[in-house]
Amino acid sequence: MNFAAGGVQGYTYGHEFAGTATDGRCYAVEPTVYCGECAQCRLGHVQRCIAQEHGTLGIFRDDGMCDAVTVPLSMLVPLPAGLHVRDACLVEPASVAWHGIRRAALVPGERVAVVGGGSIGLLAAAAARQEGFDVDIEVRHKHQRIAAERLEVGSPEGIYDVVIDAAGSEPGLARCAELARPGGRVVLLGVYQHTVPLPGVAGLVKELTYVHSIAYSRHDGIRDTEQAAALLAGHPTIAETVITHRFPLD
Ligand SMILES: [Zn+2]
Repeated sequence: MNFAAGGVQGYTYGHEFAGTATDGRCYAVEPTVYCGECAQCRLGHVQRCIAQEHGTLGIFRDDGMCDAVTVPLSMLVPLPAGLHVRDACLVEPASVAWHGIRRAALVPGERVAVVGGGSIGLLAAAAARQEGFDVDIEVRHKHQRIAAERLEVGSPEGIYDVVIDAAGSEPGLARCAELARPGGRVVLLGVYQHTVPLPGVAGLVKELTYVHSIAYSRHDGIRDTEQAAALLAGHPTIAETVITHRFPLD
């Protein structure tokens, strides 16, 4: 695959989208293209599908920012009451964040830190917070701190059982290792296009575990995307906080 700058040149982007179908009902789209038959798909890990056709709408083929799109029924995620279609573009990134939190395998009482205050970082913090965990987030910009406060998420202090990397940078990785407790886990939600150095000594002396996380899966027959939609529907403050501007397609 010729993966560059977030997508393949020549395609119309848009993997975070929602809309109204011809039946009048509103849906978000789970844009993963998978075979459903390989060993990974059978276990629900459709994001790890090994088939040739595996990919994502809007990254490897035309989608959400086209004037109109057709997607298979199986990709539709019905919007629960409380989530407006105007806000439902967040279902996809919230699912990425939700999957990352699930990959952290949190147990009650654990403390979580997030490094990086972009939309994925804020959504991950909000997801962990709504699951009842004590969460703090390290951000770079003032508007991100204001957003974090609205989501009832504080600034890091001390060490954490789990640190979510939502910065995708070398200094971010170093900060994750610093914030993790001995024996802690670091979940890599940040996207690295190239080789990056892990903070060797810091990770070694703490025996950190690094966990990759991509996209969203199914577990016990439940889609991460459905749970993320429910999270957004149940907590309207999340969309009100993370969506800051709206622009027409043109
Ligand atoms: Zn497959």
